[in-house]
Amino acid sequence: MDKRNTSGLSKETLKGLCKSGKSGYPMESYESRFWHYVVRSNKCWGWSATLCYGYGLMMIRGRREMAHRVSWVIHNGPVPKGLWVLHCCDNPPCTNPKHLFLGTIHDNLNDMRSKGRGYVPQTRRGGDCTLAKLTSKDVRFILALPRERGVATRIAKRLSVNASTIQKVMDRKTWKHISVGGK
Ligand SMILES: [Zn+2]
Repeated sequence: MDKRNTSGLSKETLKGLCKSGKSGYPMESYESRFWHYVVRSNKCWGWSATLCYGYGLMMIRGRREMAHRVSWVIHNGPVPKGLWVLHCCDNPPCTNPKHLFLGTIHDNLNDMRSKGRGYVPQTRRGGDCTLAKLTSKDVRFILALPRERGVATRIAKRLSVNASTIQKVMDRKTWKHISVGGK
């Protein structure tokens, strides 16, 4: 499946565009190339161009850029220094902005360890992201609750998430970096 050809450009032209960095291609061109390569859906977005270790790649001004980072920049603006663009869907080629959030390298490691259920910084965006449903404030609130029958279900309703999401927090399976009674 070669989605690039839907752009109406030949492979040679596209190759030329990819190498265009040195000749100072205008800013908007990377955005339009991004949309050529992206395969949109209601869930994860695919990437029809080059992949590297599973991550989508594209050339911008002669530099290799990760497609999900490009997606973040297009949708949310520049990535603050020291922060990474991470996936909450655990799907490296995905460029759906709703599945991306900002974190540190440390969060990235934690995130990988907990298989995508961990820390979400306050800077996160995207309401459809399963990770984005709780904030650290919610977690502290959940951890302070009495461990009674039905509590998880009640709180889940209140926070509009699944009871299992609350249960995992209570069982200290997720959000483990937040300590009980911590700040
Ligand atoms: Zn995704």
